[in-house]
Amino acid sequence: MPGFELFGDAERKEVNDVLDNGVLMRYGFDGMRKGHWKAKELESQLQNTFKSKHVQLVSSGTAAVSVALAAAGVGAGDEVIMPTFTFVASFEAIMMLGVIPVLVDIDDTLAVCPKAVEAAITQKTKAVMVVQMCGSMGNMDALQTICNKHDLLLVEDACQAIGGSYKGKPLGSIGDLGCFSFDFVKTITCGEGGAVITNNKDYYLNADHYSDHGHDHVGNDRGAETHPFLGYNFRISELHAAVGLAQIKRLPEFLEIQKKNFTVLREVLSEIPEVTFRRVPEGGEESYAFLNFFLPDLEIARKVSQAFKENGVDACFHYYDNNWHYIRKWDHLKNLKSLFPISIEVKKGLEYLKTKEFKQSDNYIARNISCLIKLSWTEEELKQRANTMLNCIKSAL
Ligand SMILES: *Cc1c(COP(=O)(O)O)cnc(C)c1O
Repeated sequence: MPGFELFGDAERKEVNDVLDNGVLMRYGFDGMRKGHWKAKELESQLQNTFKSKHVQLVSSGTAAVSVALAAAGVGAGDEVIMPTFTFVASFEAIMMLGVIPVLVDIDDTLAVCPKAVEAAITQKTKAVMVVQMCGSMGNMDALQTICNKHDLLLVEDACQAIGGSYKGKPLGSIGDLGCFSFDFVKTITCGEGGAVITNNKDYYLNADHYSDHGHDHVGNDRGAETHPFLGYNFRISELHAAVGLAQIKRLPEFLEIQKKNFTVLREVLSEIPEVTFRRVPEGGEESYAFLNFFLPDLEIARKVSQAFKENGVDACFHYYDNNWHYIRKWDHLKNLKSLFPISIEVKKGLEYLKTKEFKQSDNYIARNISCLIKLSWTEEELKQRANTMLNCIKSAL
């Protein structure tokens, strides 16, 4: 998945444009810029890539999720439904707004289970957040139907699925709002950065203002701009946007390499009857950022994960035992370890986490191994990796 593997002259050139004129900020300083508007250019490239009318760059993927929800008016005391399997950023971004994250089970797509989503809807639910994990996606038709029926926003966190699609639409562009991260390990990187995409002009204008202290961005005198409402600072810098501008142009090349490497590994592992793969919903095409497979049980998955480590198969994750991506290890969330007081509503709203079990999620995550697909492997390395993986799995069975 990582674009950082292929950082080179194209990225350096874009960054040097910015260094030449010294305007490191995306807004204002028109006279000094010598025509360089990297953030604006990247936004317009992303509109094409993600087939979306509006794109707002922000400082991170976490900021993107928070800005997206804020832009659609989700706030204190509301509930947002999200999966048990995701990056910690999902609940961080939700809680930053005083919103209550309602965690629900995933299914064999590794994204939220539509049945679990429907069962979790209450009077307070404002949005369903589907996290398109590990390069693939949830059952978007089913989720869209539920959201339409209950008049809820559908928000896509597509941070890990840049370049994937569902029924011809880029992931991220299907819901009311889509969120991307361009941090250092994503398919394309800005170093740090993120984006909110939407076809809704009001949400876009809200995101544009909100991510820059509420500035209305009217005219070309920043000091004279008005503030129609409160905002914060989630701006991307011009330097970061410059890196992303070089990377977005290389996305087709990155995706092609990812697919090729993914296919080699998948074909070899398919020889083992006990190995099954993550389900990609009908009409979906994953981005091939990760190869995800299931083993028969937890014990075998642990053995395979250990064998991978001992035999130099890096970048493969057994998320059941990993601190970052699965509820089982999120003790800081369950125990609400916060530096500052948390609102009573959120505190009460999260009490369920102390006792609730997620057996359906456990069943999938306990048996799942998720392998990052790198871009820099040589054919020889790839062949060797496939063979080592095959042997590790066979001997664990
Ligand atoms: C990386 C990631 C984020 C957060 O992105 P940052 O840019 O690191 O803040 C959010 N959600 C998912 C699923 C991610 O993988």
